[in-house]
Amino acid sequence: MTERRAITVQGVVQGVGFRPFVFGLAARLGLAGSVKNRTGGVVVEVEGDPQSLDRFLIDLESASPPLAQIHEVRWERQATRGESRFRIDSSEPGATGAIFIAPDVATCDACLAELFDPANRRYRYPFLNCTNCGPRLTIVQSAPYDRERTTMSGFAMCRACRAEYDDPADRRFHAQPTACPLCGPQLALLDHRGEPIAAADPLICFAAALGRGEIGAIKGLGGYHLACAASSASAVGALRVRKHRDEKPFAVMVADLAAARELCEIDVAEQALLLSPRRPIVLLRKRTGAGLAESVAPRNPYLGVMLPYTPLHHLLLRSVGRIPLVMTSGNRQDEPIAHEDADAVARLAGIASLLLTHNRPIHVRCEDSVTRIVGERELPLRRSRGYAPLPIDLPHECPCPTLAVGGQLKGSFALGQGRHAFLSHHLGDLDHYEAYRAFERDIALYRQLFAVQPESIAHDLHPDYASTRFARVYSSEHGTPLVAVQHHHAHMASVMAEHGLTEPVIAVTFDGTGYGTDGAIWGGEFLAGDYGSFRRAAHLRYAGMPGGDQAIREPWRMAAAHLLDAHCGLDLLSGRVSEVELRAVETMLARGLNTPLTSSAGRLFDAVAALAGVRDRVTFEGQAAMELEWLAMTAPASGCYAFELSASQKQDDTHRTLLIDTRPMIQDVASDALLRTEPAIIARRFHTTMVELIVATCVRIRERTRLDVIVLSGGVFMNALLAAEVCARLASQRFRVYTHHRVPPNDGGLCLGQLAVAASRLTQG
Ligand code: ZN
Ligand code: ZN
Ligand code: FE
Repeated sequence: MTERRAITVQGVVQGVGFRPFVFGLAARLGLAGSVKNRTGGVVVEVEGDPQSLDRFLIDLESASPPLAQIHEVRWERQATRGESRFRIDSSEPGATGAIFIAPDVATCDACLAELFDPANRRYRYPFLNCTNCGPRLTIVQSAPYDRERTTMSGFAMCRACRAEYDDPADRRFHAQPTACPLCGPQLALLDHRGEPIAAADPLICFAAALGRGEIGAIKGLGGYHLACAASSASAVGALRVRKHRDEKPFAVMVADLAAARELCEIDVAEQALLLSPRRPIVLLRKRTGAGLAESVAPRNPYLGVMLPYTPLHHLLLRSVGRIPLVMTSGNRQDEPIAHEDADAVARLAGIASLLLTHNRPIHVRCEDSVTRIVGERELPLRRSRGYAPLPIDLPHECPCPTLAVGGQLKGSFALGQGRHAFLSHHLGDLDHYEAYRAFERDIALYRQLFAVQPESIAHDLHPDYASTRFARVYSSEHGTPLVAVQHHHAHMASVMAEHGLTEPVIAVTFDGTGYGTDGAIWGGEFLAGDYGSFRRAAHLRYAGMPGGDQAIREPWRMAAAHLLDAHCGLDLLSGRVSEVELRAVETMLARGLNTPLTSSAGRLFDAVAALAGVRDRVTFEGQAAMELEWLAMTAPASGCYAFELSASQKQDDTHRTLLIDTRPMIQDVASDALLRTEPAIIARRFHTTMVELIVATCVRIRERTRLDVIVLSGGVFMNALLAAEVCARLASQRFRVYTHHRVPPNDGGLCLGQLAVAASRLTQG
């Protein structure tokens, strides 16, 4: 007896070797039929005996290629056709349904072996790839994923490549970006003006320049990197000057795991991340005397390390003699990465003395992802290459296609369609004009790639965020309704969505800045609620930010604000800051001039960092708080400062907001500092205090609300010491605690939360 079944598979099944896998499976089970890509997935028709068809359905899901992500399999019976063989049909564009695009995948072991095999026809060819590896998102121009709809369409396959592409037994069977030295992209070397340099081997020439201490720009998967020898203090110093990047740490690329071990301590979980096909930058503990220039990551106990993820990177790292290379995004400061050739030359020519480029266009820019291990699990810090645009499932279906535009810093957006949230790559800080332009362009690009026409837009409550302005303009041009989501509510919903939580929770959202419903700057918040709504259950006491944003760049100002608030006087700061500045800030605070109020936990860390003598000024956001964390890690736990919880004056007991008075703590810190207590001890005691303050507040909120599920979010929870201790202490109080593992706790994860809130509110009408 023969039967025929039509099977549709939804999910990330294009560009991951899924059709060849289906072909092989059908062949093994002796089934006839066909497989083809179609928008949103793959359609398989199989004909044969029912037992084999059942087996086929089981193996289709359980034995699928490692990079595939199946979201749904559906099948129905069809009339048999008496076919005798199985074939791969050409794609069927235009069908409806969600579109899934695979992220870029690091060079696989089989390709790597060929790259360094002198007998192979692709020996040392910088663009080799196969069905299991190579560029994906960055070269896709539209769906379904086929060569003619990628930036490889301009390269006609040679006979040998075509034969592999057509051979079901070959590992390049339907590998869309496949190429060889005869038919594929080629390297080119340009000088600092963008003029071609004749070189027998551009790569060797480029590597030699890096070896001499020069700065080069190199075109990778999702954009250009700036590269130099990480061992050369003068090269790294020059890069910092030219890139206008004072102290923010650089990441390095090393040849392989052994080279990474020479620089850093690596545990099992970290090793798995380093070697994963996503190949993110992993934050690792630096070894002392590792032979790196101190200026790569100044005073930093951690180092961002990544392994090569393209054949070009593998070749480069070998050509430079396996020395670690600084590899930083090709841009100035926090602009988005340069990815178009002409633009890259214009923007990077003043920084790099030569450019190693090639003629495979990058269609979608994509920066390196940054991640770390905390408590044996991944904590993403920047979700981009290798991860984007994989969907995260929403707890509620979006009733209509929705765009969530994120925040202002660490820009990213998300498209919601049905249960899926497609999160964009990282876009940088939107206050940079270049970043805002990229934001606009990439939203248009994703709308086209995913064929999604948003019918509602979720945005932050902050009226002056560039993303909010974009949402308003888009809304007035397209008549699309807006959903405004409070910043910390979005943080809270992002953790909930990651874990599919549907019950009400207590959220501890600690960050630098978020616009509050009372117009103040929030950032030390305890919310109680769900996706639809929240109540501000508790918050840190407000303090002034003398000079507004200037107080972010100058933590001593926050120290002054907290000292005066706690009636401590400014003696601690005199001698470190000019008398004129001190008096000016004192006046501002006394009269409330240009001094917005904030409950920000990030600013409290800044203030204590200044009080402990860590630093008075920063060159990038969060620097003082980070250095305070590192210092705290060097000291044993030794006591806790005082703090007080008090209820605000509202009648209804269940709706009173708790106020966390940090003045007793500031008084303790100030007296410790006056007694010349070790800064590390102060830092440690402060961390312990923050942990205890969070636990005590959560316990009080539970007493009133009976809620015992806690989510932790906000940039402050990138602090591993704080996060680990808070989790442990809350667990010991029998709370269920959830943290981020798939999106960053910082504002890069906001768009997911905005989508989840919008989906809930739109559903409730
Ligand atoms: Zn491969
Ligand atoms: Zn070829
Ligand atoms: Fe935030």
